[in-house]
Amino acid sequence: MVKARKYVVKKHFEGLPKREDFDIVEYELPPIKNGEILVKVEWVSVDPYLRAYNSRFPVPYDQFGFQVGIVEDSKDPRYPVGTRVVSHKGWCDYCIINTTDTNVEPAEIPHKLPNLKGLSNSLGVGAVGMPGCTAYFGFLELCQPKAGETVVVSGAAGAVGSLVGQIAKIKGCKVIGFAGSDDKLKWLEEIGFDKAINYKTADIAKALKEAAPNGVDCYFDNVGGELSSAIINQMNEFGRVSVCGAISSYNDAELPKSTILQPALVSKQLRIEGFIVWRWYSRHSEAFAELTKWIVSGELKPREHITEGFENMVDAFVGMLKGDNYGKAVVKL
Ligand code: NDP
Repeated sequence: MVKARKYVVKKHFEGLPKREDFDIVEYELPPIKNGEILVKVEWVSVDPYLRAYNSRFPVPYDQFGFQVGIVEDSKDPRYPVGTRVVSHKGWCDYCIINTTDTNVEPAEIPHKLPNLKGLSNSLGVGAVGMPGCTAYFGFLELCQPKAGETVVVSGAAGAVGSLVGQIAKIKGCKVIGFAGSDDKLKWLEEIGFDKAINYKTADIAKALKEAAPNGVDCYFDNVGGELSSAIINQMNEFGRVSVCGAISSYNDAELPKSTILQPALVSKQLRIEGFIVWRWYSRHSEAFAELTKWIVSGELKPREHITEGFENMVDAFVGMLKGDNYGKAVVKL
């Protein structure tokens, strides 16, 4: 028998999640059956959607989320002992995965970690995982950037945003990022952003006008709210907006109001489109290959914000929501 621990959400979050909203439950895993694998979890991801989706589930529920682990016992020959697996089994230290159950949402289907060419396995929940695919497809498919165009990214120093900005540079664009501290701005400029702006302290409209005197062609929106309205109001004719997320509102009980966008959408003939990364699920391996290639060549520099220890999951989660992270927030078990 293997002893496992998992986080159970026992109370709906009010504002930022708190340690008291969770229980850590210890239990014994049964022996695995045919078509199952036993996985020792090595890396667990903390992501904004864990906050955004909290009210959708009745409590108590097991905290879901992406993780990378190593197969310790297997009754599926496709996953021999020692294989590294990415799954959505959440905040636990050991789990049993049914590898044959494919009649589930794409996020729930486990997959073998792609060949990361010696890079850290943690990238399987980051730049070569769901956030990487989000940046790759959400930006390239919906913004259709052309070399020489001006691209703006909000949430630019986070997991998805920092990749989008670097992909835009690879595609020959001018890139402006918005982030929440001066130190993050320095890092963004180090990894190639042409200009980074602190959305907490700058006069946003004025700073953007100075950084993008010829207007904005593409906007990758991670945050929503007034920041996004200010950016969309400075877009060029036929500009494209990819709406990835709205983290500025995830901790609010009610959606805040922001400036009406229709005048800009009409007069500039903008295209604005939201997406969920699973739209491109069948093409994820294409993104994994391209992202790995760019990382190995040094064109893409993913950064990780690593918290150590299973007991520190909530701190890592809240820290990410508050903006402690540079790049992808992950927990190492
Ligand atoms: P990040 O790594 O970007 O972490 C969240 C960041 O959000 C923080 O570091 C913080 O940075 C910023 N933030 C927090 N509060 C605010 C606020 N009020 N206004 C502006 N910024 C804020 O997370 P991810 O890269 O994982 O996710 C980024 C976005 O992408 C989220 O909205 C998420 O929901 C979305 N997403 C959507 C997917 C899809 O399929 N559509 C898939 C994956 C992610 P700072 O210091 O700059 O404030």
